[in-house]
This record gives sequence, structure tokens and C-alpha cells, in this order.
Amino acid sequence: MTLIALPAFSDNYIWMLHDGQQALVVDPGDAAPVLAALDAHELALTAILVTHHHADHVGGLAALRPRLQGPVFGPAREAIPAPFEPLADGARIFAAGTTFEVIDVPGHTAGHIAYLHRPADGAAPILFCGDTLFSGGCGRLFEGTALQMHHSLSRLAALPGDTQVCCAHEYTESNLRFAAAVEPDNPELARYTAECRGLRERGVPTLPSTIARERAVNPFLRCALPAVARAARAQGAANDSEAEVFGALREWKNRFR
Ligand code: ZN
Ligand code: FE
Repeated sequence: MTLIALPAFSDNYIWMLHDGQQALVVDPGDAAPVLAALDAHELALTAILVTHHHADHVGGLAALRPRLQGPVFGPAREAIPAPFEPLADGARIFAAGTTFEVIDVPGHTAGHIAYLHRPADGAAPILFCGDTLFSGGCGRLFEGTALQMHHSLSRLAALPGDTQVCCAHEYTESNLRFAAAVEPDNPELARYTAECRGLRERGVPTLPSTIARERAVNPFLRCALPAVARAARAQGAANDSEAEVFGALREWKNRFR
């Protein structure tokens, strides 16, 4: 299977997974880059996976339907442009010759879901997590609570370390600036920041990341660490509980420049 990040708008990625014949795309906010990639690689579009209802994730659906030879999958609890196959936690689907399990990850939106592919051949799992987990950060809380988002991120953080993390936005460098304010003494963070700067200077995506890397650098997955809790306390966290630390970090990030 080949994994491609198709840039869209100013900082979105539409992920495409294909086997040389069948392709699926995730969160096609715009149809144009998808159609161009299908034509360039001579692929049939046989499934679309949607993580949540925001326009930058579903805006290309209508224009792709005439080319689509299969279902649109989406979160059962969200208003996705019909028709689509509604999915909830634990669902298993077959899409473009590949299987996925569905993980409920509310927080950014109330019904946000993620898709996990575990290859049978022992290769690294692939996670499509929409706007829930970003490299070095996480989505804003538009419809959910800090407690929900913390729980959602904890489920993703528990996946195998080599899981390829396919986020829907290139937010890594700005996220890492915030992460450095939280954990100025994290050596892995400094090393990764330099690596990402080099990638972006060459116009290369910083994604996919891995779960192991996110555990090492992403402050939102590190709320149990004393250094992170201390930084959150200085920004208003009332205690060291992980959910309280997470909530304080998320609010700090909202006002961080
Ligand atoms: Zn969104
Ligand atoms: Fe988005």
C-alpha cells in the first residue's frame, strides 16, 4: 500500500492510500487535488473516509461522487452530506481492499472518529486521526470538553509506537514552538524541531508522524509528567490531575503566539 499526503487549501492534507489500482481518500475538503492524483496514478476511487463534519474535510464530497465506485464512510453522530455509511466505536470496515477499525475520539467535534489500519503482514499500523491529534499538538475544543479530548488522545497514545500518524493539517512547526514553551528542556523536542524545519524548508510534509514520537514530544500526550504539570500549574492548572493539566495546556495554547 502506498500512502500519499495531498496538500489542500493553506495547510490541510488529504490522505490517499492505494495499492496501484484502488484508492481511498480521507477527508477530501477539496476535490481538485484528489482528481489530479487519481488521474496521475491511474487509480479507481473506491472509498472515502470522513473523520468529522467540518467543511475543510467534507467540501469535496459532492464533486467526487461521480468518480466514486464505493461508499463514503463517516461518523454516525455527525451531519455528513448524505449518503454515507454511519460508523461508531469498534466498527470494522473494508475499504479499497483494506480493513480499518473505528475509534471514537470526541473533543474537536462531538462525534469525531479516527480510522486505524493494522496490516496483516506486520508492517506499521496507519492512523487517520483528522483534527484530533496533530504532530506536537491537538485539535481545538469546538464541541467537546477537555476531559473528552484527553480521553480520546489517551486512546490514540496507547496504540503501537510505530503507528503512522496521518493528521489532517500541517501545524507541526507552530505546535513545536508551543511545546518548547511547555518543555524547554526536552532534548527530543529540540532534535525533532530541527528536523521539521529542514523538511519544511524543502516543502516536504512533516507527516506522517509516529505514536512513539508524539509520546516523546507532544505536550498534550505528556500531561502525567512532573515538568509538564509544573508548566501547566504556572498557567492556571488547579492541580496535577492529567485532565486538569490537559485543560490548562489547551487554554494556554489558544492564547499562545
Ligand atoms: Zn476540524
Ligand atoms: Fe480541519
